Amino acid sequence: MAMRSSPKLLCNLPYIVRSLNSSSSIVATVPPLGLSEKADGTVVKPVAVASPCSTLNLDDVEKLFKSVSTVQLLRSSLNLHMAAFGPVVELGMWVMRSRLVETAIIREFILTTVKHTFYEHFCAGENVEEASRTLQRLWNDGLTGILDYSLEDATDNDSCDRNLEEFLKTVDSTKFLPPSSVSFACVKISAICPISLLGRVSDLLRWKHKDPTFYLPWKRDTMPFLTNASPFYHTLKRPDPLTAEEEKDLQLTHQRLMKLCQKCLETNLPLLVDAEYTSVQPAIDYLTYCAAIDFNKDGFPIVFGTIQAYLKDSKQRMVQATEAAEKMGIPIGFKLVRGAYLSSETQIASSLGFCSPIHGSIKETHACYNDCTSFMLEKVARGSAAVVLATHNLESGKVATMKAQELGIGKGNEKLQFAQLKGMAEGLSYGLKSAGFQVSKYLPFGPVEKVMPYLLRRAEENKGLLSASTLDRQLMSKELKRRLKAAILGGKTTK
Ligand SMILES: Cc1cc2nc3c(=O)[nH]c(=O)nc-3n(C[C@H](O)[C@H](O)[C@H](O)COP(=O)(O)OP(=O)(O)OC[C@H]3O[C@@H](n4cnc5c(N)ncnc54)[C@H](O)[C@@H]3O)c2cc1C
Repeated sequence: MAMRSSPKLLCNLPYIVRSLNSSSSIVATVPPLGLSEKADGTVVKPVAVASPCSTLNLDDVEKLFKSVSTVQLLRSSLNLHMAAFGPVVELGMWVMRSRLVETAIIREFILTTVKHTFYEHFCAGENVEEASRTLQRLWNDGLTGILDYSLEDATDNDSCDRNLEEFLKTVDSTKFLPPSSVSFACVKISAICPISLLGRVSDLLRWKHKDPTFYLPWKRDTMPFLTNASPFYHTLKRPDPLTAEEEKDLQLTHQRLMKLCQKCLETNLPLLVDAEYTSVQPAIDYLTYCAAIDFNKDGFPIVFGTIQAYLKDSKQRMVQATEAAEKMGIPIGFKLVRGAYLSSETQIASSLGFCSPIHGSIKETHACYNDCTSFMLEKVARGSAAVVLATHNLESGKVATMKAQELGIGKGNEKLQFAQLKGMAEGLSYGLKSAGFQVSKYLPFGPVEKVMPYLLRRAEENKGLLSASTLDRQLMSKELKRRLKAAILGGKTTK
């Protein structure tokens, strides 16, 4: 998405040699994806043309996985089949949570096994250098990346400062990558603001929404982030004002976010702010909108908020923020997700005797997601907003691509992006890419031990024969069989 004007790229990297081509019809002398080669040997992406994107089609597996080598395809397929085999995952999870991991030799054995299987599949590397190499391989395949460093939870200002340094380092590292191979930076506000303060600020903002006369001396005017349908049960009594120390800490949080936005602006890399729990989301949205007001200029957003479509109030919140931004002349951007905190949200609400803030059925969540997508695409078509459709759901992919076509949103329109996690929904990612859309993969990176909770969540999601990876397993098996047949019969050869 970011069209970085002066990338300090590694000019000598051999971009033209795409090692992962599966079809002999694409020879090494042809730059991948129609990239053009400059006299000095570097390869640049073509200037985006506004030709329309085609529809999403996952039937032609040869075309879908044409940039993926057979070895890579075999590894991915094997990992997904292993993850889908419940007993393997359950045994792994049991061992990880048991006292067995305290024994050094067992721990070492588990970490090594995980590193060469699930970790390699779902993560980009142990450090920014390894992650950059993964990102470059993706870029050769026509996808872009979003580097996501696995961070410690912030409890105090020191840990917030340490996390900020890591965010800044990650953004800085993208300067040395091929231009436009990185689409976004991302941040979790709970990593740069103590979680207790996010809770306090959210309480005060909720009370202010209910009682507009309630005075908050530190509050800036922003786009609205609550509606009357938002969950208010987190704040059952009038909260105390922020103490002087809390106000100072809030100021420090603003400064950290501003520093990160400034770095993103200088790097010409938009920033995606993650959505978290409803208990702290008002403070996250408030901080995000403050930053958006300061940084979203010249028709393109630098700061993107996140909308979780599983929340009953999501569409209304998104619409009112978008319309307010339009009135203020601020380009607004959202990442649209379904939401990841389903069980804890439901548990908290029911423990307090309230209805869940989440739609009563998955069908309603799907409908809300597709509805929010249509709303944002209309805005994209008019040029007033940008959206990142972060989903692994094939149906949502189809709905979005059809709507984009209907609205004439052309190839290379930077205001529409799709995103999936590394190792998830590969078929969808490649299908969207070959239909002409811009697709990014989220690339979590960090030491194996640190990303273990992330890996356990991915293992849980992909466990079972009917899990999230079903479609990918089917598509990959189909393509592997096709390549095997072609190799035996001597048709199109494969690498
Ligand atoms: C690039 C990217 C960035 C993300 N960033 C965030 C983020 O900032 N914040 C965040 O919260 N999540 C984030 N997520 C996770 C996302 O919210 C989803 O958990 C995940 O992507 C699965 O949803 P899906 O759209 O892929 O759809 P599907 O693959 O169709 O998944 C549907 C899932 O939705 C859940 N669900 C939602 N509503 C209901 C309901 N009413 N009843 C039952 N189940 C329901 C179920 O767990 C179900 O498995 C991100 C995901 C991606 C790919």
